[in-house]
Order: sequence, then C-alpha cells, then structure tokens
Amino acid sequence: AEPVLDIRGLRTIFRVRGGEITAVNDIDLSIAAGETLALVGESGSGKSVTSLSVMRLLTRGIGAIAAGSIRLTTRGGAAQDLVGLDEESMRRIRGDDIGMVFQEPMSSLNPVFTIGDQIAEPLRVHRGADRKKAMDAAVALLESVGIPDARRRAGQYPHELSGGMRQRATIAMALACDPALLIADEPTTALDVTIQAQILDLLLKLQRERGMAMLFVTHNLGVVAEIAHRVAVMYAGRIVEEGPVGEVFRNPKHPYTMGLLASMPRLGDAARMKQAGEKLAAIPGMVPSLMNMPSGCAFSPRCTFAIDACRAVVPGLEQVNPQHRSRCIRWQEI
Ligand code: ATP
Ligand code: MG
Repeated sequence: AEPVLDIRGLRTIFRVRGGEITAVNDIDLSIAAGETLALVGESGSGKSVTSLSVMRLLTRGIGAIAAGSIRLTTRGGAAQDLVGLDEESMRRIRGDDIGMVFQEPMSSLNPVFTIGDQIAEPLRVHRGADRKKAMDAAVALLESVGIPDARRRAGQYPHELSGGMRQRATIAMALACDPALLIADEPTTALDVTIQAQILDLLLKLQRERGMAMLFVTHNLGVVAEIAHRVAVMYAGRIVEEGPVGEVFRNPKHPYTMGLLASMPRLGDAARMKQAGEKLAAIPGMVPSLMNMPSGCAFSPRCTFAIDACRAVVPGLEQVNPQHRSRCIRWQEI
C-alpha cells in the first residue's frame, strides 16, 4: 500500500544573521498507515523543523523548504505534494488530514474558548457539522481520550483542567477529523512522569485503533522502545540511521546511535547505578554549529571510529539490510 507520508530529499533552510543554515538536510522518510516512526536525536538536530516542514508551519521569510517533496495520502486515497501548496489548502489539510500534538498543551489551546468549543471547531470548519452535532462529537471525543465527566468538562476553560487533562484535550482536538497522519512533537515532555506514561498509553491505543500513521518526535529512547515501530536518528540535520526499533536498539550500525543508547539508563538500572555511583556514558563533545559544519561526516569530530576517509566526504546512507540504513562508511566494522 502507498505510505501515508512519503518525504523525499527534504531540505529546509533558515535565513539567520550571517547567512543561511540548513536545519534539515536531504531527508527521506516514509510512514505507512498503522505505523509509528520515531524521530530522535540531540537538541538542535532538526526533529521539530522536520515536523514543522511537513505541516508547512515554518516562519515565512525566515524558514523555507529549499528542496524535496512531502507526499501525503489522505484517508480518501488522494495523494498530494504538500510542498508548494497554497496556505488555504494547507489550512484544510491541517486538523483534517494531519493532526498535531505539541509539547505544551497551552500552545494549542485558546484560553478564552471552552474545551468543548475548541474540539468542536474542526468538525464545524472541516466537516460542516452543526453546533449540536459538533458538541456531541466533542463530548464523545473527550470520553475516548479518557476524560471523566466529559459533558461537564466540555463546558470548562483550559485553565480549569490539569496539565494531563489539557494534553488529553489537545489529543481529542487533533483526532476530531480522524486524520490519516498524527504528528506528535515531544507530547509528554512537559508532564509529570506518571502522567507521561498515561498519555503515551493513550496515544499508542488511539494510533492502533484508528490505523493512523504517526510521526513521533522525542529525545527519549525509552519512549521510542515503547511506542514506535521504526526509528530514524537525526544528527545535525541529517538522518544517520534508520530501521526497525528492535533491530536498531539491539544492533546499532552508527557510532552516534551507539552513543545515544549507551547514555540511556536501562529500565531498572537507574536505581542500581545511583547506588553504585556509576556515571552514564555520555557522548563526549558537542553537536556542531550549523553555521560551521565539519567537513565530511558531521559526527566525525566526536567519533572514536573516525578515520581520514570520514572527514573527506559526507557519507551516503548505506543499506545494512532492506529495512535498515546507516550513514557510516564503517558500519560493517563497528
Ligand atoms: P529539541 O530537541 O531541542 O527540540 P530539535 O531537534 O527539535 O531540538 P529543531 O528545533 O528542529 O531541533 O532545530 C534545528 C535547527 O534549526 C537548530 O539549529 C535551530 O537553531 C534551527 N532553527 C529552528 N527554528 C529556527 C528559526 N525559526 N530560525 C532560525 N533557526 C532555527
Ligand atoms: Mg524540537
């Protein structure tokens, strides 16, 4: 079947003081219906810019898609390239074919409208539902995201809900029109640990029930293991490794992925390590500045495996097997 999202050769640039930076560089990604792809990498690696590019929410005049295509196949089976679509068409697609959930629920909620009105709005705008029908559907959606006493909650304002409840409400809003693709950018990062687990379980359940394609952005590898089928690891704007989660975690083929995994406490290890006073292995050095990239492989200055050839040219993505790719010329040796 055709993937719901198919990104080819995407390059996104920003005009900044002193020139131009390439925040997303030649990215290929595809996500099928019913599949979750996690995008991981350190802060500044280009995860959010990738999701903002798909939604075409780059600040005009500053950020722009410089190359590539972003093909979206809707529930109805129609496919279109989002790159180059006019703003009015994009507005129709956002909230209808693509649902979005961000880190901070208050950024998606309007403080002066009730929760119910905000969830009902996409149904009225995109589906032409009347007031009563849209409100009944909003209440049903609030129930489906686990908000008790949904009818009463629908009449409340965002500040009357807890952080976890607000995030449930934004998920209900994102799902109102039954989108083919859900983009979730660090949706649990701003929440307490116990609430985080509940929201993750909810997203996992809804994604399965609805057969959505999900692009899940996180820097937390523990979350990736729980929620995603495939993972793409980003470094300085490029994908450096991509494959099925189990395989990439058990058998990483890029030194950067190995470093990320080594710096992750294994489940249950945290307490023991604290007791033993052990330190987590962190990757030495820093992410390069996009204004001043090293030659060749961007990770080579931090890589213990780097040889002269690594500094000569940017390595291509090599096929480890049909499902697994690595942007390391030494993947067979590491
Ligand atoms: P984090 O884990 O911190 O959310 P990220 O992987 O989501 O990091 P991005 O927000 O995608 O990182 O940023 C990638 C790069 O693009 C960074 O170097 C950032 O400074 C740059 N960038 C993002 N937005 C803008 C902007 N509006 N103007 C200029 N540069 C930007
Ligand atoms: Mg981000």
